[in-house]
Amino acid sequence: MQTKLKLYNSKNRALETFDPLNPPFVGLYVCGPTVYSEVHVGNVRTFNSFDLIYRYLLHLGYKVRYVRNITDVGHLLDDTAEDRISKKARLENIEPMEVVQRYTVDFHQTMEQFNALPPSIEPTATGHLIEQIELVQTIIDKGFGYESNGSVYFDVAAYNNHHNYGELSGRNVDDLLSNTRDLDGQSDKRHPADFALWKNAEPQHIMKWNSPWGMGFPGWHLECSVMSTKYLGKQFDIHGGGMDLKFPHHECEIAQNKAGYDEEPVKYWLHTNMLTFNGKKMAKSEGTGVTPREMLTGDHPLLTQAYSAMTIRFFMLQAHYRSTLDFSNEALQAAEKGLKRLMVALNSLEDLAVSETSTLDVSDMHEKLYAAMNDDFNSPIAIAHLFEAVKWINLIADGKETISASDKEAFTKLLNDFVVEVLGLKNESNNDGADKIDGLVQFALELRQQAKLDKNYAMSDSIRDRLKEIGFEIKDGKDGSTYTSL
Ligand code: AMP
Ligand code: ZN
Repeated sequence: MQTKLKLYNSKNRALETFDPLNPPFVGLYVCGPTVYSEVHVGNVRTFNSFDLIYRYLLHLGYKVRYVRNITDVGHLLDDTAEDRISKKARLENIEPMEVVQRYTVDFHQTMEQFNALPPSIEPTATGHLIEQIELVQTIIDKGFGYESNGSVYFDVAAYNNHHNYGELSGRNVDDLLSNTRDLDGQSDKRHPADFALWKNAEPQHIMKWNSPWGMGFPGWHLECSVMSTKYLGKQFDIHGGGMDLKFPHHECEIAQNKAGYDEEPVKYWLHTNMLTFNGKKMAKSEGTGVTPREMLTGDHPLLTQAYSAMTIRFFMLQAHYRSTLDFSNEALQAAEKGLKRLMVALNSLEDLAVSETSTLDVSDMHEKLYAAMNDDFNSPIAIAHLFEAVKWINLIADGKETISASDKEAFTKLLNDFVVEVLGLKNESNNDGADKIDGLVQFALELRQQAKLDKNYAMSDSIRDRLKEIGFEIKDGKDGSTYTSL
């Protein structure tokens, strides 16, 4: 019997049975990156965690609409009033949209390397300005927002008379001081906890649009309220993001939705934990923000070697998404070995001999794997069971256990479903074809060696010349021939 999926709803701080609002459809919204620089592997962990969740929901047969936005305006730097993208554009003397394009493309390439599935819709904040302006107006009209010197703020006190600001993060309104990300124009606010819905743009500000309140730009939290509602409805199933976004970002999103649309927007809030370095959140500002490119080349002072994208993905999957994961070369090296063991075993499955009967209980393995994933997407437990399956494969290969033909078929499907479809791991060595090309060239060199031994020099020269035409330079040495790719 299969257990039902349970997930940890961080709004209620409880494990809950997953009952989508409108099955088999599932609406999933995840806060995407601010595209002002390369992502670091900490960011990648968050997106990989949601990729696992998305993949498992798809695997269970849900028709998931996965919306993940691109923040291309409105995300201000913590210590200044400057937009992150504008700042990069100013420093590099390029258009803000060039910054956005460069890092959006880079982000897509990165996530593809990690074998993360693309979302169903990837809307941008700048593509939804009309809708954002409309929501600001609605919030003002309903008495939960006010204009002040060309900016519009959300009136937390007015909202709190009807609702509970702080319901997600557990914060108390009275305790909330000036810890919002928008520090300029603070004196325009009625209350320090009020947050910007729309910001007046100074003349030198590059990214600005016309609005009923003058030239300005949207507050950071607004885009997610607007785009989740537009594509998933006023109420949808799952909203996710890193834990660091719970406050103020997600708290503000809930307030905007309730104020503007009179609905509790999200049924299940999922928050993923941080990738840390020596126990501290990995961050660019700390010098610990290792980028995927640096990981793949090994070119960073924190790295003792290069790691492949699948090793990094596997390393991340070995921790539960709600636990912190500490970055270390030792853990990555262990993941590299573990992944190899898993993939070698998986590839050897088809060669296993079958017997009349099975001495192993494949249906029990089936139960255990689903039970692990149904328990709030517990990938480390699922991986522990997969390693037990690796032991089984080796025991069968050694003739110490047996498997029937039908069990072998079920076992092969089960392991492939989990390793490839749910965990999203792929065989890297076969993927780029490099191993196969190397094998072919080595084979040609062996034929040439044989031709030489047979004193068929015309043939050995012809093989060398053909390889050169194709793009391989052959060097003959004492210990045989080697080649370089031209
Ligand atoms: P940002 O582009 O800063 O908005 O961040 C994009 C996503 O990465 C957010 O969901 C953050 O919660 C997440 N994030 C940032 N730093 C880390 C980290 N060290 N570990 C895991 N996730 C992170
Ligand atoms: Zn968001």
